[in-house]
Amino acid sequence: MSSLIPLLKKEYPWLNEINSQSIQQVVMHLDSAFHGFFKKITRYPRFKKKRNSGSFSVPQHFSIDGNHLTRPKFKAPLRLIMHREIQGTMHSLTISKTSSGKYYVSILSETQNEIPESREIKPSTTVSMDVGITEFITLSNGIQISNPKNLKKSEKKLAKRQRQMAKKQKGSNNWNRVRIKVATLQEHVANQRMDFHNRISDVLTRQYDTMITEGLNVSGMMKNHKLAKSIADAGWHSFFTMLKTKALSRGKNTIEIGMFDPSSRMCSHCGYIYDDLKLSERTWTCPRCNITHDREWNAAINIKRFGLIKARVPTDSGKLTPVDTIASIISLLEREGIRQVKWLKQEAPRF
Ligand SMILES: [Zn+2]
Repeated sequence: MSSLIPLLKKEYPWLNEINSQSIQQVVMHLDSAFHGFFKKITRYPRFKKKRNSGSFSVPQHFSIDGNHLTRPKFKAPLRLIMHREIQGTMHSLTISKTSSGKYYVSILSETQNEIPESREIKPSTTVSMDVGITEFITLSNGIQISNPKNLKKSEKKLAKRQRQMAKKQKGSNNWNRVRIKVATLQEHVANQRMDFHNRISDVLTRQYDTMITEGLNVSGMMKNHKLAKSIADAGWHSFFTMLKTKALSRGKNTIEIGMFDPSSRMCSHCGYIYDDLKLSERTWTCPRCNITHDREWNAAINIKRFGLIKARVPTDSGKLTPVDTIASIISLLEREGIRQVKWLKQEAPRF
């Protein structure tokens, strides 16, 4: 396809507006998209219209001087707001435009920093988590964090604006005006959520040596329409990715357990499998040992057990997390601006 580019340039003169390396980069992206498709990893690549393509990459011939970016095919340098200093050698940059019309430049660079060696996996420095719809996250020590209020507020506002947009005639001036408002709000919600996820993953990867999560079958869950919105919104996948990246850079471990392990249905105290558990049941009492479980907390405790078994580390069954430790983690979270935190009462010796 690279050899076809000169012909394509004659047919579509706008291709000359951009530098050749950026066009070759697109061909390379298409190639890897098809590779993924043939290996059955990804879906068939989607066709991208010129007006819908949100970004392009510049693999070489660019430079940054202070707050100015010089790149091929543009006469005047572009003024930037630098969010952080660039470390290491710059490799390529990607310029993208959001649907609300903001432009971003992201720079890929390589540093010589070595990844720290990972810590030993010990039950006492391990935390596991269950992610849910009503509560964002429940940790194996009983700490539960809800989605922040400001995020819920913006989500409501967004839903209202989206309804307004649906009433307008598609393509009209009014429709377009509301569309930009919707896009701006969508970005705002996404930024708020990313900020929230960054804060939590930061505290967890600083406080613990090992983090255990449950594998998510996101695409499978999306088919269940009732759950679809909440799952898409919660963005657990991106949260887990953040957690993994931060853990790796700090020499910490992450363990993912299979998604078919019966984490919600198994009694974390005696191992009884409660097959009749309904999605509406937030708490349930084990018919065998008579302990009442909080649904999410019980799941988190089981996830820790499955994870440690997977890592071949003996578990610390029956050990309670000291109240002081809980208090210090809660205060760390609060210092990070996370206020929707509560601690579930421990009623019996737990794992
Ligand atoms: Zn039981």
